[in-house]
Amino acid sequence: MELNNIVIVGASLAGAQAAQTLRRQNFEGSIVLVGDESHPPYDRPPLSKKYLAGSTEREKLRLRSMADPDELRVDLRLNEAATGLDVDRRVLTTTTGELAFDGLILATGARPRRLAGELDGVHVLRTLDDADGLREAFAARPDRVVVIGAGFIGAEVAATAREAGLEVTMIEAGAAPLSRVLDADAGMAIADLHRDNGVDVRLGVGVDALVGTGSVEKVELSDGTSLDADVVVVGIGVIPNTEWLEGSGLTIADGVVCDRTCLAAPGVVAAGDVARWDHPRYGSLRVEQWDNAVDQGGYVAKRLLAESDGQMVEPFAPVPWFWSDQYDRKIQLAGMTTANVEIVQGSIEERRFVQLYLGDDGQPVGVLAWNRPRQAVMARQLLEKSAGIQEARDALA
Ligand code: FAD
Ligand code: NAP
Repeated sequence: MELNNIVIVGASLAGAQAAQTLRRQNFEGSIVLVGDESHPPYDRPPLSKKYLAGSTEREKLRLRSMADPDELRVDLRLNEAATGLDVDRRVLTTTTGELAFDGLILATGARPRRLAGELDGVHVLRTLDDADGLREAFAARPDRVVVIGAGFIGAEVAATAREAGLEVTMIEAGAAPLSRVLDADAGMAIADLHRDNGVDVRLGVGVDALVGTGSVEKVELSDGTSLDADVVVVGIGVIPNTEWLEGSGLTIADGVVCDRTCLAAPGVVAAGDVARWDHPRYGSLRVEQWDNAVDQGGYVAKRLLAESDGQMVEPFAPVPWFWSDQYDRKIQLAGMTTANVEIVQGSIEERRFVQLYLGDDGQPVGVLAWNRPRQAVMARQLLEKSAGIQEARDALA
């Protein structure tokens, strides 16, 4: 099918990258970028780090890929939400009307999971508005900040709050922080890092209730104790934004389900936090990370153009990758972690190390680097070319 107009839903990292890539690939048709937020596309990682700390200003958050929509000839529509999709007719419904498309890119990301009850002083962190609210709450110098969940949001917000001199308790239901992505030892190293910086880290304990009259006053824990709290930050994971696609005929299962090339239906592709695709190496996968949103946004743009030209495309098969900044540590992971792990450089005690994770066949599947950025970049290249164990050990040592 000829591609004359492409609609992108989700005016953030993956969507903006897709729009920019379409133009870079000399797509001359119309591009409409629909986003339900009021701000021009911005970057989220600083929201838990420098922006929250007050050391980066709002102007610096603007996504470079969408710095000038007019120059890219992108019709950027803010404050407009997609509400329905008819795949057969190739029509998108939004809060302002209908949009016909030849190609559609779904990049609606994810939103925070919340705890029951509405009380002032309870925050989540996903958007610029959330960050402004939390920044204001920290600026009021609360006596006690309680962070629920020791995932990425919890760990980074706890670090930023401590660096601002606030008293922080971090609660995690699991046995160690970041247990979804790190092995137990590396997770405990995160717990120790926070404890050494003065955070009261409570592991293996859940939250029963947030209590207060109007504003939060206490957090009741599953071990029968309770904590005083003026500010609570809930970082207990995210939910992909797919509800509006119900009835569209697309398969939705914790994300928009796609094939190996991120195609969800003819003419419809998905990218970023919302996309669940069939990774040739890891199977069904949805990745909630910055690099993936950029890479997949660029990939799906090319994928749509290739489909309309009748060309074959290689599957989308990146080595997953993330970084997290906490205090003076830069923590980077390429690939996946496993229980079969060896340290190839440094030590966990000095918090400067490189750890190699091995798969069932004894070959490298992941590398974790703490304050070792050069090795982290190298690790990604090694995993991309499926380097063997000895080559990886030698290169990373
Ligand atoms: P999103 O950025 O979630 O954007 C989706 C957009 O679609 C949003 O603007 C949303 O409002 C909009 N939308 C949703 N539904 C609709 C609809 N129906 N109609 C129109 N628009 C809609 N990753 C890292 O690798 N390293 C980090 O250090 C890091 N730090 C982070 C810090 C914070 C505070 C947060 C929140 C995330 C961080 N991430 C980090 C994760 C990274 O930012 C995300 O993976 C990335 O933003 C995903 O991009 P996306 O475009 O897929 O989705
Ligand atoms: P997350 O990284 O998925 O971590 C959520 C944590 O909360 C997990 O440890 C989870 O444990 C725990 N949890 C779940 N339900 C809970 C409950 N009811 N009570 C207490 N703990 C509970 O999610 P997040 O930290 O909220 O981050 C949100 C998103 O932002 C993610 O997509 C993340 O990738 C992104 N982000 C990334 C970075 C980065 O890459 N540096 C930084 C900030 C944010 P279980 O796993 O046991 O359920």
